[in-house]
Amino acid sequence: MLEDLGVEIIAGIVLFVAGVFLAKPITRVVEQWRRTIQFRKHEPIRVRIFCIHSPFCSDQLKRVLLRQNQLQRIFEIDIAEWKSWNSRKSSEKALSKLQTDSRLEFCNRFQEVMQKYNNEKQITGNRLINIAITDLPFPKNYYTWNTRDKKGIVVGIQSLRHLFNDKPQIVNMIVLRIVQRMLIYSLNINGLIAHEITRGCLFDLTRQLTDIQYSTEKTYICDECRKIILEKRGLPLLEEIEAWVAG
Ligand SMILES: [Zn+2]
Repeated sequence: MLEDLGVEIIAGIVLFVAGVFLAKPITRVVEQWRRTIQFRKHEPIRVRIFCIHSPFCSDQLKRVLLRQNQLQRIFEIDIAEWKSWNSRKSSEKALSKLQTDSRLEFCNRFQEVMQKYNNEKQITGNRLINIAITDLPFPKNYYTWNTRDKKGIVVGIQSLRHLFNDKPQIVNMIVLRIVQRMLIYSLNINGLIAHEITRGCLFDLTRQLTDIQYSTEKTYICDECRKIILEKRGLPLLEEIEAWVAG
């Protein structure tokens, strides 16, 4: 009897100490478990990332992008084995010769090439999204655009690299934020658009690349954008997006 009481007291103390020191990790695990249950019927949208004509698309950047799979369940991100593809050189040559002022056309041409790769590798499905990261100059000095159906996205990193030449980790963080933003746009949430007011939100309209760096380390979904996601798609998706952006 006394022994039992002793065990209970010890167990109580252990739990109390664990509660004090592990409160945060436990809360996080419980929170992740809860979101997993809410998302259990959701099949992730496949995303393939292509480093096209992009010698500076580093392993570190690829690791940052692949890590996103552990932070959310909306998308399943994969890196295409672009370098070993037979038609890589001819495709890159054609893209580098492309002369256009149209961001949409630029994007469409990249999407054609990425789809050709997918078709050859028999990667199909109408929920497939392709993202090209490229060093080729983006029309109108811009840095990202998508196809009309939002299933093809291009991120230009040439100007980013020039701006942050000695800080590759900043380039990686900026690319990550662009990828997050463009992927969430691809969900077609009605009313969710970039806003003029700068709040440090993931959906701040950042015409200048130099403006993005201030919201890369810490960003969030502002009240206005939260409201739109909540109303149009409900709480589970909003929570998933917020946890993802918070990292
Ligand atoms: Zn916002």
